[in-house]
Amino acid sequence: MRESGLDRRLASLPAKVVLPSLIIGTVDAEVLIIGGGYAGLSAGALLARSGIDVLLLEASSRPGGRAAWEEREGFLLEHGLHDNRFAERGAAAAVFRKLGMELEFLELGETELWDGDSFVPLPAALTSILRSPLLGPRDSAAAARAFLPLALLPPRRLYHRSLEEILGKRPRPRVKRLLSLLSGLGIIAPDLHEASAGEFAAFLQKAMRSPRRAGYPRGGTRAIIEGLRRALEENGEIRTGTRVERIVPRKGRIEEAVSSQGIFRASAVISAVPVQTLPSLLDRRDIPTLFRRMAEEMLPTAGISLEMALSAPVSERRGLLVTDDPFSMGQFTSNIDPSAAPPGKQLISWFQPLPFALMDDGEAVRREEERMRALLRKMFPGIEEKAEWERIMHLRMVDGFLPSPGQSRPRRPGHRVEGLENLFIAGDGTAAMGTGGDAAIYSAMEVSGLVRSYLGA
Ligand SMILES: Cc1cc2nc3c(=O)[nH]c(=O)nc-3n(C[C@H](O)[C@H](O)[C@H](O)COP(=O)(O)OP(=O)(O)OC[C@H]3O[C@@H](n4cnc5c(N)ncnc54)[C@H](O)[C@@H]3O)c2cc1C
Repeated sequence: MRESGLDRRLASLPAKVVLPSLIIGTVDAEVLIIGGGYAGLSAGALLARSGIDVLLLEASSRPGGRAAWEEREGFLLEHGLHDNRFAERGAAAAVFRKLGMELEFLELGETELWDGDSFVPLPAALTSILRSPLLGPRDSAAAARAFLPLALLPPRRLYHRSLEEILGKRPRPRVKRLLSLLSGLGIIAPDLHEASAGEFAAFLQKAMRSPRRAGYPRGGTRAIIEGLRRALEENGEIRTGTRVERIVPRKGRIEEAVSSQGIFRASAVISAVPVQTLPSLLDRRDIPTLFRRMAEEMLPTAGISLEMALSAPVSERRGLLVTDDPFSMGQFTSNIDPSAAPPGKQLISWFQPLPFALMDDGEAVRREEERMRALLRKMFPGIEEKAEWERIMHLRMVDGFLPSPGQSRPRRPGHRVEGLENLFIAGDGTAAMGTGGDAAIYSAMEVSGLVRSYLGA
């Protein structure tokens, strides 16, 4: 894209310089939100509902961020596989309830593991985990030793430890495999060395309290994004195609946000961009070094997403399907919600997490993609011949943080930045509860409360 003269002028300005409003005009709002993914939309909807005037600026042409959706030839494409942990007990349901709206969840079938040549059930509840046929007869004591602390201890006592440490020095292979599968499914961290025991324990304990481990909202992420958008627009505005280039503080407060579309001022500013990119919007001198490093160095989860639009059904399965070599997961979304594909056709969405560092090695990623495709061909013979078209994405950011011990909840950036009293931070890389979409939404719930108190609303 060609850079306009204004873009060049903005890029060459030091962050501290305040553009004369005559150049591009200023817009005032009570609360300015930068970024229109789950976090920005949720915070905006909650604040708008409480009567606060909200303006949300979104860089791309439509809101949704990493949960955006699009229609293609009658198929409803999400930005890769998207389910909601804990269904009606989960984060999206909670924010809808606060907004006085309802989100209907469709029943997901049983979660199943591809065990080499057939699918077998993958246990969800603690009792079924300990009795799972995936464990051998002599594994029960080791499984209890691994899973009971995770089920019973407060997560804060386990955040700094890895799941590998919990398993001990000589783990029994089947116990290790089961834990890796459940950690992969629950917190997208199948590598036990990298998975924080506290993050997994928080997931497991909530799963034990919830009737359902996951659900799919009728209409998918579209239902969530559109519901939040409507609630926000009742007392606020979303401006798409508006990328904020700089946020400019003065005397400990954010004074304005500058974009090529204008200068924006507000009493409070919410950053809802991925936390890794927030420091680039500020001058280095305006942000405490510790916060800046924590944010910039936060490693996200990464991986490969593959969707196929199939001319005819290849499977009747309605639940999450998981493989363990390599770890990957997916679902036939249109078996759960028939509106995701035209009648007689089928939509499959598959995802394989990969280490962030590997994403720079194009050859290695392509090899992993081929392994994933080989598995799909084995599980669903003839699938590729039925593909009318497909979308493959090599993604450097899936969830905002890899839930490792070093990035567990107490070690992620909080919702405030010391020294900037009217700046609030939301997004799935912050110290909110949960991972992925849950962290994004819970961070927004937290931040909207903080902003209301700050404004005295
Ligand atoms: C393939 C895939 C599968 C996933 N599956 C699941 C799942 O099953 N369950 C789950 O809970 N989560 C899942 N996630 C994670 C989930 O999508 C994210 O956690 C969530 O969408 C993050 O929301 P967010 O608002 O924090 O960030 P984002 O969605 O990244 O939103 C940030 C927004 O800010 C905008 N922006 C950035 N910079 C600027 C700027 N300078 N000015 C203005 N706007 C800006 C961006 O365009 C974007 O819209 C998945 C993600 C992917 C990619």
